[in-house]
Amino acid sequence: MPAPSSTSLRIGVDLGGTKIEAIVLDAAGRTLWRERVATPAGDYDATLARVAALVAAAEASVGNGARRVGVGTPGAQTADGTIKNANSTCLNGRPLAADLTQLLGRPVRIANDANCLALSEASDGAGAGHPVVFAAILGTGVGAGIVVDGKLLTGPNGLAGEWGHNPLAWIDADDGLPATCYCGRRGCIETWLSGPGLAHDHARRTGQALSAQAIAQRAQAGDAACDLTLQRYESRLARALAQVINLLDPDVIVLGGGLSLMSRLYDNVPRLWCAHVFSAGSAAPPRTPLRPSRHGDSSGVRGAAWLWPAD
Ligand SMILES: [Zn+2]
Repeated sequence: MPAPSSTSLRIGVDLGGTKIEAIVLDAAGRTLWRERVATPAGDYDATLARVAALVAAAEASVGNGARRVGVGTPGAQTADGTIKNANSTCLNGRPLAADLTQLLGRPVRIANDANCLALSEASDGAGAGHPVVFAAILGTGVGAGIVVDGKLLTGPNGLAGEWGHNPLAWIDADDGLPATCYCGRRGCIETWLSGPGLAHDHARRTGQALSAQAIAQRAQAGDAACDLTLQRYESRLARALAQVINLLDPDVIVLGGGLSLMSRLYDNVPRLWCAHVFSAGSAAPPRTPLRPSRHGDSSGVRGAAWLWPAD
């Protein structure tokens, strides 16, 4: 194989609450190098230094040619360039992109984890070849990103894809009362569809304190109460995604995050969303495919690298 052109290499960094992962991708999206280190808890300056050390190691590994760096972070970047709503709270209020640009001596592109998932899956994952990709993370939180013709939609407020903080639609008595979200509003999709939201709903109905993962495992083993909890979850996911189809009509919907590993979602949710998509019905179901992410846990770091074009 010929040596890769150094100008076609991209470095992606996934800055998480517990670990920082870095990757070098070539123009075709092949992984040339990757490394994972612990995040210095609660220490912003040490976090920046560790990112810089990883970037230096990445460059050294591929002959110092990979200059372009993308970073995926929790939270959102505000209009003034500071980070907000990150669960790694030492990032909040900090101009992360500007600080990394200065430290690394080059422009650094930043996006949140859901946007990185969308970009990774649209580039060479479960959404590859589709013009409009909607990708959602169903995990500790709920976020989403939108890619159109290979480009991430951000918007003037940096809010494109913040579907998790719209209210859940068509709620009824079976859903119970909407919970207050960390964003200050009530009944956000995140409060219903996150892992903690699923666990809360199960506890509300059964009195059992189980994690989302345990509920999924027990449902698979035949536990009737856990199965009912997942049926309520699927109904809510179907309603929330029906609104996405009505608004955006994406060519494909991709799910990432821990809850996306429940394979039953991909049969049950498209059957259920027919009742809520405009002018659809069981006789004319929407043709939107619902797929699990191809790159799984690696979508964040891969999407960060894809923040730069292949060449
Ligand atoms: Zn909210």
